[in-house]
Amino acid sequence: MARYIFITGGVVSSLGKGLMAASLGALLQARGYKVRIRKFDPYLNVDPGTMSPYQHGEVYVTDDGAETDLDLGHYERFTGVSARQSDNITSGRVYRDIIAKERRGDYLGATVQVIPHVTDAIKEFALAGQDDHDFILCEIGGTVGDIESLPFMEAIRQLRNELEPDQTVSVHVTLVPYIAAAGELKTKPTQHSVRELASLGIKPDVLLCRAEHEIPEGERRKIAQFCNVRPQSVIPALDAPSIYSVPLQYHQEGLDAEVLRAFGITDAPAPDLSAWEDVTDRYFNPEGEVTIGVVGKYVGLPDAYKSLNEALVHGGLANRVKVNIKWIDAEIFEEDEADITAKLEPLHGILVPGGFGERGSEGKIASVRFARERQVPFFGICLGMQMACIEGARAAGIEGASSTEFGETSEPVVGIIEEWMSEEGLQTREAGGDLGGTMRLGAYDAKLSGNSHVSRVYHGAEMISERHRHRYEVNSAYIEPLENQGLVFSGMSPDGLLPEIVERPDHPWFIGVQFHPELKSKPFDPHPLFAGFVAAALEQSRLV
Ligand code: GLN
Repeated sequence: MARYIFITGGVVSSLGKGLMAASLGALLQARGYKVRIRKFDPYLNVDPGTMSPYQHGEVYVTDDGAETDLDLGHYERFTGVSARQSDNITSGRVYRDIIAKERRGDYLGATVQVIPHVTDAIKEFALAGQDDHDFILCEIGGTVGDIESLPFMEAIRQLRNELEPDQTVSVHVTLVPYIAAAGELKTKPTQHSVRELASLGIKPDVLLCRAEHEIPEGERRKIAQFCNVRPQSVIPALDAPSIYSVPLQYHQEGLDAEVLRAFGITDAPAPDLSAWEDVTDRYFNPEGEVTIGVVGKYVGLPDAYKSLNEALVHGGLANRVKVNIKWIDAEIFEEDEADITAKLEPLHGILVPGGFGERGSEGKIASVRFARERQVPFFGICLGMQMACIEGARAAGIEGASSTEFGETSEPVVGIIEEWMSEEGLQTREAGGDLGGTMRLGAYDAKLSGNSHVSRVYHGAEMISERHRHRYEVNSAYIEPLENQGLVFSGMSPDGLLPEIVERPDHPWFIGVQFHPELKSKPFDPHPLFAGFVAAALEQSRLV
């Protein structure tokens, strides 16, 4: 029997609920429990796949090909449990499924309503695939009081009645703001938020109170009294120096013990936190530093490259160095050559990340050329790998080399594919079809050439599995001219048709990958490509 932890947020958004859920999951896991974390998103998009990274941050892709909320990345990085399609649901998906059923006549003439039809669908989602999990953590997006989240709150209320009394716990994350003029922490917003939650029929068991200042014992007691919880269940959550300190910090404040107690579990095994102690030790005591430039498009919003940012940090943890990331807007390179040198020369490594659309592409290509010519470690991810191939083609004299993503071209070094093989068999896509859900998505195998740089990076592996999210592919018709120019295609799809990895043997570290390795990196298990790239940058830092 799985136990359920429902996590809601109050007062304001951006309280770090996702990180809190991930940390609580990690702490329960450290006690030997099997956990899974799910996200309920109240917005009406069917999935975040079509949302701008500026609006909603990165789209996190799972092995089974779902485009999900970036919080699932936190969950996976903190627990190591691979997220699945069935771990993220949106109102849009719920309504889409219900309307499809209604059109099919599946409701047999009934009036289709929010209660029970929408709430039943939400409950079904929460209860599906419990497997042998000990705890399923369900994070509800948004803030208590939002109109959009009401059906989710109602579904939780119903579930808390329907499941066993000791089978569900409600954790509410709130804010205890500090009013400088009064020199005081204020508990009123928390009281209001809990009252709002209670008016929806949900009584929280544990309150996690985000605060910039220590919450004095008296204030803690006051919150407990007004919010109808035990004083020990008011957990202060002060700002952490790093996201990697959060699990240890919340453990010290008693979060996991208090959640377990709310379930009536008082004899839980003590947690083994050694992995987190090692991660924080590496993070806070680096023995050097490197500077990596990320030349991309969405550089104004760090959340747009969340997993990439984390994977670079993990690469630093693997090498015990601090990684300074310079976010560089690719567009600035489209005007002035001198700018390129000034911006890229101080870097120890250049990374061109994934992205969509033509904007900034010439700047990305110019950065690849700089890295190739100056022998600076280069890492191209997805669009970055495609740019590395276009740059190689131009170096081979194919001047018009481009991608069909950027418009008509006579030299489609990168082009759309309309057929490819997946585990489910032949996949096809119509040119000019819908944009949502038409990409090569999720985990695909790649076969590595023996004796290649990348096979050494992957510790001799012959076959790897990595996550994809793209519409375009490097056109295999150009493999020959590109190989003549010095690029080696060292990873291909198992049928040998789709290029997955390119590298330059005449360069200290030049690798482009069609997939997104950053999605699988963990602080306690850094991805080998990021560990290798940061190690190469460290070498480079000794040269310059
Ligand atoms: N825009 C490119 C494509 O669709 C690359 C996508 C990406 O970088 N994720 O193929």
